[in-house]
Amino acid sequence: MNRAIEVFHFMPDKLNLYGDIGNIIALKQRAKWRGLEVNVTDINTTQGIKISDADILFIGGGSDREQKIATDDLFRVKDDFKAAIEDGMPALTICGGYQFLGEKYITPDGQELKGLHILDFYTESKKDRLTGNIVIESETFGQIVGFENHGGRTYHDYNTLGNVVSGYGNNDTDKKEGIHYKNLLGTYLHGPILPKNHEITDYLLKQACERIGMAFPEVRLDNSVEEAAKQVIVKRLMEDKK
Ligand code: GLN
Repeated sequence: MNRAIEVFHFMPDKLNLYGDIGNIIALKQRAKWRGLEVNVTDINTTQGIKISDADILFIGGGSDREQKIATDDLFRVKDDFKAAIEDGMPALTICGGYQFLGEKYITPDGQELKGLHILDFYTESKKDRLTGNIVIESETFGQIVGFENHGGRTYHDYNTLGNVVSGYGNNDTDKKEGIHYKNLLGTYLHGPILPKNHEITDYLLKQACERIGMAFPEVRLDNSVEEAAKQVIVKRLMEDKK
């Protein structure tokens, strides 16, 4: 029987940079167009929550200060969060939200903040920030566009979201962007990422449906507006390169 897809939106009061809330709006709208119901629960504190009640986990980006407060709170559900990811629960984590899934985050002044260590990677931040529009080429999702603004450089050997065509991504050397582990996506892309990259929105909804045991409605949607928005960024970057 069909039921609503439960989305846990972690710390929307703290982790909400550069329009990250747009991801939730896109997720809801795209689900609606497919005839799916989505329930979003704002998790401003993890006190008393059960991660296993969720079908999709979402964490946005935040400043180092907000990131620290959020991490301290998320420590409470660290083991359940990890278990859910290992069990294939779909998740989208952006920038700061992505960084603290790793072992540690080293601030530009050398302070070491403990991460949740859900996955084996770390991030080191520098004062000069990696900022601007970004285009990546992904085997799974095709062309992905977004906007990045981070001091953190993330290093790991997991599968990534794709190769950087223009911009920075995980750091200033690898030319790789994000992480794709089971159904967890971590990325530096704000913008927000989902409205322009409908392939990723559909991926999250589809994985959630499959995990619940519901059929994913393969409704053909008109993506011309989303594609046109994507091409605005691609064109601008190509012109900048000239
Ligand atoms: N505080 C992190 C950094 O600067 C994350 C910033 C963000 O979420 N945009 O690297």
